[in-house]
Amino acid sequence: MTRQLRRLLAFTWAAPCSLIGLCFGALALIVGGRGARVGGVLEFSFPTHHGLGRSIAARLPFGAITFGHVVVGTAPGQLALLRAHERVHVRQYEILGPLFLVAYPLASILAAARGRPPYRGNWFEVQARRAVAADGGAAAGQHGD
Ligand SMILES: [Zn+2]
Repeated sequence: MTRQLRRLLAFTWAAPCSLIGLCFGALALIVGGRGARVGGVLEFSFPTHHGLGRSIAARLPFGAITFGHVVVGTAPGQLALLRAHERVHVRQYEILGPLFLVAYPLASILAAARGRPPYRGNWFEVQARRAVAADGGAAAGQHGD
């Protein structure tokens, strides 16, 4: 299988999740945010200046969140800070596709059942933190989603 074919399959497999991300990205754009393609991933961020977009971003319980090949950050700085962490989630979506949307909450439930924090103990989050730490990334201790 060629590299291009693998990339096409990965994008296609994760596409239903990317569509969800595009909806969030569209919201960010509507309220004055911006978007860009960075390394094959669409990144959207809410505006940092005053206004409805900033108000929405301030209420979000994460710095950035990934859906397939789309990452939405509360601010451009959050995207940069959490990029390595969120790229691990992109790879997880490429493997699991739409199943990730079921597997992720199940991993949180399993973590809670084991007495661990549902977010920090989530297997996918643990893997993302480990991968970033192994790369020596500055975002190892940061919280994406
Ligand atoms: Zn995460």
